[in-house]
Amino acid sequence: MAAHARPTPIGLSAAQLRNRMIVSARRIIVEHWPRVDRCPVCGSGWPCTPTGYAYEYLASVGQGDWVPPEHVLGRQ
Ligand SMILES: [Zn+2]
Repeated sequence: MAAHARPTPIGLSAAQLRNRMIVSARRIIVEHWPRVDRCPVCGSGWPCTPTGYAYEYLASVGQGDWVPPEHVLGRQ
């Protein structure tokens, strides 16, 4: 579990905020990535709702085809 309780500092540039959103979206996708054909967190068919939102965001920044690298998935 990553501890990220720090409040978002004001004064971030739009690009920095965007990067943070991309990182968050990717984290959601990794956590909800299907081990077989369904989400291990939600137990529903993949893509589940959080994954759908995450991909919606990534698509809006032109990264809608992002998938987790294997070394990221194998870290659990
Ligand atoms: Zn899920």
